[in-house]
Amino acid sequence: LDSILVVGGGLAGAHAAAALRARGYRDAITVVGAEPHPPYDRPPLTKSVLAGDEGDEGDEGDEGDTSFLTDWVDLGIDLRLGERAEALDLHDHLAGGVLKTSAGALAFGGLVLATGAEPVRLPGEGRQHVVRTVDDVRALRPLLRPGTHLALVGAGWIGAEVATVAAAKGCRVTVLEAGEAPLAAAVGARIGAWTAPWYAEAGVTLRCGTAVTSVDPGGLCLADGEFLAADVVVVGAGARPAVGWLRDSGLEIARGVVVDESLRTARPEVVALGDCAAWWSPRYGRHMVVEHWDTALKASELAAAALLGEDVCHDPVPYFWSEQFGRMVQYAGDHQGADQVVLRGSPEDPEWAVLWLAGDRLLAILTVNRPRDLLQARRALTTGCAVDLPAATDPGTALRDA
Ligand code: FAD
Repeated sequence: LDSILVVGGGLAGAHAAAALRARGYRDAITVVGAEPHPPYDRPPLTKSVLAGDEGDEGDEGDEGDTSFLTDWVDLGIDLRLGERAEALDLHDHLAGGVLKTSAGALAFGGLVLATGAEPVRLPGEGRQHVVRTVDDVRALRPLLRPGTHLALVGAGWIGAEVATVAAAKGCRVTVLEAGEAPLAAAVGARIGAWTAPWYAEAGVTLRCGTAVTSVDPGGLCLADGEFLAADVVVVGAGARPAVGWLRDSGLEIARGVVVDESLRTARPEVVALGDCAAWWSPRYGRHMVVEHWDTALKASELAAAALLGEDVCHDPVPYFWSEQFGRMVQYAGDHQGADQVVLRGSPEDPEWAVLWLAGDRLLAILTVNRPRDLLQARRALTTGCAVDLPAATDPGTALRDA
């Protein structure tokens, strides 16, 4: 490959570019990134960055700066920031192609697709904030003042984290969730409901089963016709892979860019990873779109190796963490197909965990303030070994293999 283009300067793209150099690739590497900022980390955005002082607004170099500590110049990687990929033209009979961007056209021999995900927005003329980029957070942060009424759409991971910070800053927070419980889409309504009291404890009003139809000037229209007045509206209703621009590329798109277990598309010189990819998981026997930091990071090494012709297999156990209402919440695995749910401890306790099993085989775990359970379970999840069920139900006993 005489040159490699990386589309998307987020976690996956940035680390894949650096990994190409680390693996000895010496030719040109160019990263095309739509955002004007050098690559940075997103998880702190809804945690320390949003919690930072209003005075920090727009201030580079404060806790609002989560840039990766990579010396791009030293690595000889050309960052084209504020430039958006608009279309992809793959050559018919030879490897490579041309990427059309907002600033022109770039030829490439190898291509890394890492455009991440775009937040869902609601219809309506009112101002709605989303939380995906550092600019989103810098726009929202100064609005979170004591007494401000914040209406937050969605009690998922992002919604819970924003509610945590806004409540701590003295905002009046109302969370509107269409599902039956917080986190219902991620962990199911029964288990998600165990997190509902956390909202009340923090002084946050949680309204589940409440669909929002539009964001209008001054507030939200709800499906039952009610108008909820709000000073600030934040929509945390999920994200979709940012793949619309690949519509006419000929690549297979099914929610994300379809790739095999080595992260290659049908064209071996084009790989995709991170939140924009639907990769084939031999472990789970299906294509997976996983919008998690750990999965994107793991994939970056392998995508670089795959592009350089190495034989690799990307088959991680998904892992995610979230900090909400003073609790560390962690999830690993995939609970689809579980026939049994085991609770370790009580949801009323400061710490507890839930295990999803198929027979005595562990499929997934959710932990609240129990990082050791998470670590032990991750091992069982990776190896696929059975867990000792009597021990699993006793929170005083370490999780162990059967
Ligand atoms: P991204 O980081 O989204 O990067 C994609 C980049 O591509 C973006 O900069 C985007 O602007 C750019 N791009 C998009 N389209 C184009 C285009 N057409 N041309 C050029 N560039 C383009 N995960 C956890 O496990 N734990 C957490 O606590 C956690 N917290 C999070 C908090 C927030 C606020 C967010 C948004 C995400 C969080 N995540 C968390 C998820 C994690 O950050 C993502 O899984 C990870 O960022 C995915 O990396 P990525 O490179 O695939 O996508």
